[in-house]
Amino acid sequence: MKNKGIAAALVALLILALAPMARSDSARPMIVRVRPDSAADAAFLMSHYDETHNHGGGEIELLLWPGDRSELDALGFDYRVVVNDLFARDMLTSTAAKQKLSLPGPDRDDYRRLVDYNTEMADLAKKNPQLVKLFEMKQPTLEGRPVFGVEIASQVKNDDGRPIFYIDAVHHAREWPSSEYTMLFVHHLVEEYGKDPKVTSLLKKARVIAVPIVNVDGFNYTREAVLSYNQPLRDATENMAAGNGFEGYWRKNRRSLTGVTVPAAQVNPDAFGVDPNRNYSYLWGDSNGGSSGLQLDQTYRGEAPFSEPETQNVRDIILGRSVTGVLTNHTFQASVLRAGGGKAPDDVLLSSIGQKVADILGYSNQATVGYPTTGTTDDWAYAAMGALGYTIEHGEIAFHPGYADEVGKFWPEHMDAFEVLFDMAANPKYHSVLKGRVSGGPAQLTLAKTFVTELSPGNPTGEDGVEEKIELKLTTKPDGTFEWHVGPSDRPYEKKPESYTLTIKSSSGTKTMKVHIDRGQVLNLGTIKL
Ligand SMILES: [Zn+2]
Repeated sequence: MKNKGIAAALVALLILALAPMARSDSARPMIVRVRPDSAADAAFLMSHYDETHNHGGGEIELLLWPGDRSELDALGFDYRVVVNDLFARDMLTSTAAKQKLSLPGPDRDDYRRLVDYNTEMADLAKKNPQLVKLFEMKQPTLEGRPVFGVEIASQVKNDDGRPIFYIDAVHHAREWPSSEYTMLFVHHLVEEYGKDPKVTSLLKKARVIAVPIVNVDGFNYTREAVLSYNQPLRDATENMAAGNGFEGYWRKNRRSLTGVTVPAAQVNPDAFGVDPNRNYSYLWGDSNGGSSGLQLDQTYRGEAPFSEPETQNVRDIILGRSVTGVLTNHTFQASVLRAGGGKAPDDVLLSSIGQKVADILGYSNQATVGYPTTGTTDDWAYAAMGALGYTIEHGEIAFHPGYADEVGKFWPEHMDAFEVLFDMAANPKYHSVLKGRVSGGPAQLTLAKTFVTELSPGNPTGEDGVEEKIELKLTTKPDGTFEWHVGPSDRPYEKKPESYTLTIKSSSGTKTMKVHIDRGQVLNLGTIKL
């Protein structure tokens, strides 16, 4: 049997050697750098190909998928090869000797798998019921998996009006360090509560909602791939380049785009999937390179804003809770990006807080990733809720650097950087506070606002905007008093003033009132009689 195997391998090698090796054969993932001649070429390269964010010196770095190299050749782009065989490099990294690192939470020597995230979050909630609450997001994934997160706060189950710092990671499947830092932050908060005065104080005045893996299907696909375990694929029926290292570089979610007709050279594993970080509503659907309408592209935005379960889940948390600060984690550019891409009315504030975070991490504080993007998490959260939002592009080595080289080295400063943004979300100077007392005892409060978020002109839905609704709920204290941390009622990009509708319900009756509140304002509604 052994000899037969070797003979078969030799025959296969011979056939490979005899086959004409077209220059277009990129049988393994490859990194190249292209020097575009014009801004239009640059925009095309960045929206059409899988760009890594790792640019510089007038070059754009691309990860080539099957068919991409021949297309670049056909289009006449010149490029230089940076990594000829990314799979071979990854195999070296993943099989190298590893040291167990002492970290917040369990000691580890490699990236977590999906089961590790889910087990650790469930265990933390079980062991710390006053501090950690496990929750499942509304929508399961397209492949039917549940999506979990945790809420962390002193007396976490209390119904009160504390502000919330929302932190997530892995909108993009392959960006493993970003979810590691998010999960380490969860462990850090739990372990330091009651010990570190700053963490303790923050968890008393505010909450954290953490979702380490937003794109659960995509993450599981990359993490369980040959890349990580050097074993056969889970499901050979999936349309992918089997066993050649591409699986580990999956970016989008796992929506099957059946019915897509592609040229033969383009029959490749990225023939399906939606980019969840181009699927949020604000300015969704542009045709200027901020996202792509082509299903094959890595920045394919989906058929409509919020068409994907991943973005619906994040939207429902942010519109349904008192989220005052947002951090969504990505890799890799060693940069801190802020909502609005430099155009936000609060850009001076956003930039100054971003600079603090960037200084701690040794990253650059940037308005954008280097080109326009639309339909992204933090841009939407800011436009819809006024929540101060950031994207951090962690690391500068690769999508899957050795665990000890990235996470093991840099986790401590990430905890400090995340605390700066938690502190921002907790600080009433940067959001709004409603106060008052309902006479006659406890009452149920609802703060609601319906509005239309602007889409890009000419977007494929034919609509100018999409209707969204903020609906927050709070029970007052038994004596009827309340202090409620919320976003400002005016949306940042809207010229016209907007108000919330506050509904107060108690055993004595119901009352409704309009409430206008600015960023930084503490509005005392006094005694409210029903
Ligand atoms: Zn990303």
